Amino acid sequence: MAITLERASTRRRRVSILGSTGSVGCNTVDLLLRDRDSYEVMALTARSNVTLLAEQARQLHPRLVVIADEAHYDALKSALAGTNIAVAAGAAALEEAAAADADWVMAAIVGAAGLMPTLAAAARGATVALANKECLVCAGDIVMAELRRSGGTLVPVDSEHSAIFQIFDFDQVDAIERIILTASGGPFLDMDLARMKDVTPAQAVAHPNWDMGAKISVDSATMMNKGLEVIEAAHLFPIPEERIEVIIHPQSVIHSMVGYSDGSVLAQMGTPDMRTPIAYALAWPDRQASPAARLDLAAISQLTFRAPDSGRFPALDLAREALKTGGVAPTVLNAANEVAVAGFLSGEIGFLDIVAVVAAGLEAAPAGVVATVEDVFAVDREARIQARKSMAQFARRR
Ligand code: NAD
Ligand code: MG
Repeated sequence: MAITLERASTRRRRVSILGSTGSVGCNTVDLLLRDRDSYEVMALTARSNVTLLAEQARQLHPRLVVIADEAHYDALKSALAGTNIAVAAGAAALEEAAAADADWVMAAIVGAAGLMPTLAAAARGATVALANKECLVCAGDIVMAELRRSGGTLVPVDSEHSAIFQIFDFDQVDAIERIILTASGGPFLDMDLARMKDVTPAQAVAHPNWDMGAKISVDSATMMNKGLEVIEAAHLFPIPEERIEVIIHPQSVIHSMVGYSDGSVLAQMGTPDMRTPIAYALAWPDRQASPAARLDLAAISQLTFRAPDSGRFPALDLAREALKTGGVAPTVLNAANEVAVAGFLSGEIGFLDIVAVVAAGLEAAPAGVVATVEDVFAVDREARIQARKSMAQFARRR
């Protein structure tokens, strides 16, 4: 009996990473490489970065690697020639990788493009470590229902939601008054609107505290990221929208807080390094070591806070409105934002136009419900067409 127990506990954990070449993906790979013997890697996926994906595959020896963009299949295949790693390409292969027989799946694709793979992992009943917040924004009810149906578990990776997950007493939900999401405020926290109008993509992606992918960095600069996170929190935690607060905390030391009915406010703190929430998700319900720098509060010396300025950062209110409206609104918000952020990054529209495109999209959206994945994609498609139209108008005015 003792032998059986020992075998059970020493079985290597089967893990997959969807979006392994991104910022969250690379941080996850880093943690796996530090503890190589504890994990068996089932699948790694990326959109187009063949060089990095092949390098990760040679280090981690997954059973399968998938490149979403089929144009890169041959390059990946030859980069992994001589290994016994299976190589595949395209959307169907991506879902297959997500549905591989893993105990734990890191969902770290950016945008609604991650929805089908995340759902495939959820349907299998795996533990889904969720970084891909956009799939909760555009299809939160569907993703959560799929996890309930399959008996799967979602462990949040977004630093704020990981923080709340660590301090939210699910056995005493009635005693929880509020959750307080912290926001760094991004690179333009103190900039006036006249200057914000002309900021460049390079300025917008240079986040003061976190090193992240381009899309989330722009979302942090507009503060749409915090809006998406309010919607994400509403799906993850049993608490209504009006009790999800946001506070600006420029040092990014407190990652979020939970307020209880006796007046206690619990906070989770750490240096801004995604390897801490990723390690938490990887080891959950236990803990494991992470190489993140340790917090030196004496060196930081001050933690400061202020209310968000909705005049200069209207994205947060827009997202809250979309959450309250429900139906198609969060799906439209997400799709329009993805198109507008891409338009800003490619120089088509200005920084302030991003939120204007999203607002126009929400205004133009018909009322309706999103009950199925097909509904989500239909609404998403329409919202993208609409967003491109309004982007063309903003581009002409520049
Ligand atoms: P990233 O742009 O650095 O990486 C995205 C990954 O997804 C890459 O591996 C890319 O190849 C893959 N990908 C992109 N488009 C794809 C497509 N159409 N099909 C298949 N694969 C595709 O992004 P990131 O910063 O790592 O963020 C990933 C997700 O995690 C986002 O939802 C983001 O909001 C969330 N998140 C990121 C951080 C962070 O520190 N970077 C923190 C919290 C939450
Ligand atoms: Mg976050």
